Amino acid sequence: MDINEFRKHGKEMIDIIADYYENLNQVPPKSTVKPGYLYKLMPHEAPEEPESFEDIKGDIESKIMPGMTHWQSGNFFGWYPSNSSFPGMLGDMYSSMFNIVGFNWICSPAATELETVVMDWLAKLIGLDKRFLSINEDGTEGIGGGVIQGSASEAQIVAMIAARERMVVHLTSQGASDEEAESMRSKFVAYVSDQTHSATQKGAKIIGCKTRVISADAKFRLTKNALETAVAEDRNAGLVPFFVCGTFGTTNTAAIDDLSGIADVAEAEHIWFHVDAAYAGSALACPEFRPLAIGSERADSFNFNPHKWMLTNFDCSALWVADSTHLVNALSIHREYLPRVKGDTSFVKDYRDWQLPLGRRFRALKLWFVMRMYGVSGIRKHIRTHVSHAKWLEEQLLADGRYEIMAPTVFGLVVFRVKPQAIFGSSIIPEESKRSVNKINSTNVELVKRIQEDNRVFLVGTKVKGNDVVRAAVGSSHGTQENVKQLVQIIKKLTTEVIAENII
Ligand SMILES: *Cc1c(COP(=O)(O)O)cnc(C)c1O
Repeated sequence: MDINEFRKHGKEMIDIIADYYENLNQVPPKSTVKPGYLYKLMPHEAPEEPESFEDIKGDIESKIMPGMTHWQSGNFFGWYPSNSSFPGMLGDMYSSMFNIVGFNWICSPAATELETVVMDWLAKLIGLDKRFLSINEDGTEGIGGGVIQGSASEAQIVAMIAARERMVVHLTSQGASDEEAESMRSKFVAYVSDQTHSATQKGAKIIGCKTRVISADAKFRLTKNALETAVAEDRNAGLVPFFVCGTFGTTNTAAIDDLSGIADVAEAEHIWFHVDAAYAGSALACPEFRPLAIGSERADSFNFNPHKWMLTNFDCSALWVADSTHLVNALSIHREYLPRVKGDTSFVKDYRDWQLPLGRRFRALKLWFVMRMYGVSGIRKHIRTHVSHAKWLEEQLLADGRYEIMAPTVFGLVVFRVKPQAIFGSSIIPEESKRSVNKINSTNVELVKRIQEDNRVFLVGTKVKGNDVVRAAVGSSHGTQENVKQLVQIIKKLTTEVIAENII
């Protein structure tokens, strides 16, 4: 493809994207292909001779499109949203244009410096504590700072590595030799609740430490008492507590851990406190949500995904640390071919030391585009609109009378089920009987299945305290109240059908 062909197809490409978004709400959100469908449609080797854009475009329509689940559809209420936006896409195009590998400042000074600037903007936008800023209010360089990671899972691993480093330093400061401190690493324990995202446990596997899973309370929260008890038990057993993950908006029910209580324990026990706000962190753009996150200002690291609910195309996960010393010490390795900037290094971060890989994309661009082209007001409006749609959905379900809400609706997530009274009618529910519990669960599982088969909207089910429930996450950048209205109609109609069929 020469540059003139690129001009032609590139312009065509924008029309393809615009058409896709224009028609997205009319398309069934979920792909219905069977596993292995694509292999049968594909040649089994790369073409010997170059092929044309037209040919590939044709295959996108006929072969790829059927295998797409449309996460950007306004009718997509599955898992958590993964927002795209037009400003985000434009920023990403610039990133593709430059296609740099920005591991050091000199690789492209603008890439490093823009990341520092936008991560400070973003920290202020969500009301993070000043400790997390790269540049202090008086213009001096801070010891904290933010960095863009690919995912919340990666951010967890990076935080755990920094935590491990800090603990090794702490142990040596307490009199352990370097060797002793190193050999104690296998005794390091990370704390999570049974509601914490699997990313923490995966991170623990990767770095080779233990995890202790603590039962969440009735409101799905990790509490101070439970953490304190677990830490004390582990200390008695000769283990070394070093990391705790507190969640602001769990994946299953959007619950919020007792962040202040966790901070108390973490401070008293010299444990690294990481806040996972992957989904709900975006809500902190709106000041009214900030009281819910009290305690996170005392964290050692804080992470949320603008690629979930803040209009920034995947991937963009924002991680801040209050003190970058341990992170940089843990991950910095010098090589002659990776020169650092000479002279005045203030305000210059070697972000390669803040992440797992060496190379990194220019992701700050899309975040900068989003913050500039929506403005703080536009981002707040985006969040508040979804929260109000979620509340409206909850009201509609409650007004119907056949549903119960299974976890508080705080953000855009509504967790509900068809309630036992609606399934058994007014007859007495044999609460204790296993058969009736099964029937309540299978009715709700069937409802989710029917909604997915109907395929005008998409959502998923989950389990809450052993009960099968329905989970609707409002938050598509391209969704409107109409999409939520349709969702309610479909839920109600299919509930009537499922109840009538008396599923056992
Ligand atoms: C989605 C989610 C994650 C995982 O996010 P990735 O960026 O895909 O790794 C972690 N924690 C919570 C609370 C989440 O909702």
